[in-house]
Amino acid sequence: MKAPRFTYVRPASLAQALQLLQEKGAEARLLAGGQSLLAALAFRLSEPGTLIDISRLGELKGVSEAGGVVRVGAGTTHTELGRSPVIQARVPLLAEAVPHIAHVAVRNRGTIGGSLAYADPAAELPACCVALEARLIAAGPRGERSIAAVDFFTGLFTTALAPDEILTAIEFPAAVPEQRTALVEIARRSGDYAMAGIALKAQVTGARLAGVRPVFFGIGDGPVLAKAAAAALEGKSATAEGIAAAKSALLQDLDPPGDQHGGPEMKRHLAGVVLERALARLAGGGVEKAA
Ligand code: FAD
Repeated sequence: MKAPRFTYVRPASLAQALQLLQEKGAEARLLAGGQSLLAALAFRLSEPGTLIDISRLGELKGVSEAGGVVRVGAGTTHTELGRSPVIQARVPLLAEAVPHIAHVAVRNRGTIGGSLAYADPAAELPACCVALEARLIAAGPRGERSIAAVDFFTGLFTTALAPDEILTAIEFPAAVPEQRTALVEIARRSGDYAMAGIALKAQVTGARLAGVRPVFFGIGDGPVLAKAAAAALEGKSATAEGIAAAKSALLQDLDPPGDQHGGPEMKRHLAGVVLERALARLAGGGVEKAA
């Protein structure tokens, strides 16, 4: 199917983009990498009258670090994110997530802001943001506000962003000593959306875990922070007993809807598998050590 007719505008600045968004109201849609939006238009799942192209706004680009916080512009592409030396050293969970997102062509155009605003429940980056306790910065006619990632994802493909707001940046706490992270997912083919996945962060001192944040994707309406499993692991080691206790606790955390991949039982099973694999990675040193 072809996309419906729309007007295309390319503002020269963030201020202009915000003004256009206000003027056009509900009939406008922001266009970033277009990797999700253009497919939605082709399927007529969305029929905006105006597309506001924010893909070339320099204000939304780049990665920087200051005062223990790594700031990523919302318009940073997945490829740029994965290749950034700052991300690789200071927020390596993101660098680990990138190769799981689609294919090179999609990663070259798709942006972190687009992924978070689109809020696909099977996407990797929303779960990473919740695991890492990121803050999402939104600009709008009432000024700028900072939203905790855990509050940003409000349901299936829905977020706390107001229709007249633009996500401008994401702020991540830089890795601290002994912090470990791991991203594990199960997909039918490389590049497919995950059937089930986990983004996991914890402090590992000796073998003991603290501040454990297991966040699942492909398992619910959005990223699912598994609080009961986290509590079961707090202060424990990722031994066979510790992992078994966390997997039992998961039953309290997860109420997965079935999807094209399988029913709730299969999803619960896969969640246990990815949790176990991620914990084994942390126990074995994980992917990360802080600088
Ligand atoms: P767009 O498609 O341009 O926009 C998506 C939505 O977000 C639109 O509603 C738009 O208005 C809004 N938006 C965009 N930027 C902003 C902003 N700054 N502020 C407010 N709203 C904004 N993703 C995964 O995570 N994992 C995968 O495995 C995966 N596989 C894919 C496979 C294929 C074949 C394709 C085509 C896509 C896949 N994706 C996957 C999606 C991909 O990551 C997209 O890049 C991403 O979801 C959307 O980013 P975008 O920049 O292309 O946004």
